[in-house]
Amino acid sequence: MPTPPADDALRAHLQADVSALRDSFDAGTTRGLDARRAQLEALRRGLRHEEPALVRALAEDLGKSRTESLLTEIGVARQEITEALKHLRSWLRPQPLRLGPLLAPSTGRLHREPLGTTLIIAPWNYPVNLTLAPLVAAIAGGNTAVLKPSEVAPATSAALAHLVRTHLDPAWVRVVEGGVEETTILLEQRFDLIFYTGSARVGRIVARAAAEHLTPTILELGGKSPVFVDDGVDLAAAARRIVWGKFTNAGQTCIAPDYLMATPETARALVPHLLRAVRSLYGRSPRRAADYGRMVSRRHLERVLALIDDERCVLGGTAEADPDARYLPPTIMTDVDWDDPVMAEEIFGPVLPILTVDGPDEAIARIRAGDQPLTLYLFSRDADLEERFAAETSSGSLALGLTLAHIGTPGMPFGGVGESGTGAYHGRAGLEAFTHAKPVVRKPLRPDTLRLVYPPYTRPRSALLRRLLR
Ligand code: NAD
Repeated sequence: MPTPPADDALRAHLQADVSALRDSFDAGTTRGLDARRAQLEALRRGLRHEEPALVRALAEDLGKSRTESLLTEIGVARQEITEALKHLRSWLRPQPLRLGPLLAPSTGRLHREPLGTTLIIAPWNYPVNLTLAPLVAAIAGGNTAVLKPSEVAPATSAALAHLVRTHLDPAWVRVVEGGVEETTILLEQRFDLIFYTGSARVGRIVARAAAEHLTPTILELGGKSPVFVDDGVDLAAAARRIVWGKFTNAGQTCIAPDYLMATPETARALVPHLLRAVRSLYGRSPRRAADYGRMVSRRHLERVLALIDDERCVLGGTAEADPDARYLPPTIMTDVDWDDPVMAEEIFGPVLPILTVDGPDEAIARIRAGDQPLTLYLFSRDADLEERFAAETSSGSLALGLTLAHIGTPGMPFGGVGESGTGAYHGRAGLEAFTHAKPVVRKPLRPDTLRLVYPPYTRPRSALLRRLLR
């Protein structure tokens, strides 16, 4: 027999993975609370056991230091597991429903039902966190899952595949490593939920493929997350928070402050504080700092390099970059115009442009004129202005006085809105994302009060109905 073409073999292989997971879901493997908890415990053990390998892989792919990997990757996944183990029983407890007088006597409850076989497609920038945190939610929800880590962070993809294959049950979770070809074949299959994290461009490809099977999607996308620094704030403290948020993971963070707006006076006063903050976090030579990361690839570095205008740099710039070492220095640009190249796309690198505005009104107008950001940042001492930002702008989340740290907590749903995504997860929101809230209602056959709504609609019956429907 002739051997089938390579992609046919790959397709058959991936189809077999998906159908094995579907069979095990149908057999009820993932339904029980104890089984879910056992799989979460297995993931926790796997994380502990594989931690050194994951830390090494993250260092290789992104130059992440051990502590940063614990803080922003492994620790986040671990917290999600702890939170789910602690609360799963109560999250799954059916919620009573109030069905109103027309249905009385009756009872109703909301039952959290697993969705089935899910697909989780992850990006490269927080490759452990953004693969495993959704997986925790998938397992907690009682689903099976195919994991597709990003090929752009290959060492971490391999370490994750090893973790899953060694520590988790293949009746629950399977890993498919690879890039566009593998993902395209996966997207041809029918899933019960696709959870995608990455760019809006690929998000559209995923949503289109999902529509073919009417599969629901959760899209965790990116975009430009603005910062406005109001007059009168503690600039030294604000600068440290902005610098940390911008330059962590060399700016390759979906919710990194993308650009900064302030009045000309505040912008001028802020710059020395930003420079000082960079020195205090990464020293005089960030290149030698153990805690300063690297760009994921030369291609990504060159894309960001092209956004830098050296004449506007007060820190860093193209001359200090080392493409072979995938090093881009922390770079700050001042007097940036709205139509400069750096404002045309999400920067996703260690470049902070500063733009001046007349004041909060213009800042709000600029934010409203752009896509809805994943996160919006405001530093202000004015509680009224904070309220105005909450009421007059739309974003996945609004962070007042801090950057980045808010998404580390399982206590807050994390997700975007509009161009920055749909759906949210983390903690209970993750369980909700990976389950269907099914109302289960019961009404005794006697007394047969439903007779009230059956025709013929006599005058007294209509009058009674009108009263009940008020
Ligand atoms: P990426 O290139 O790793 O792509 C993400 C995933 O999509 C990968 O698994 C990849 O294999 C797959 N993919 C790529 N091209 C594909 C195609 N043509 N068809 C099918 N699948 C394909 O990551 P990226 O897109 O460069 O990620 C960066 C973006 O992700 C940024 O916009 C960032 O803001 C966003 N992001 C969002 C979040 C969030 O939580 N909202 C987190 C991280 C990153």
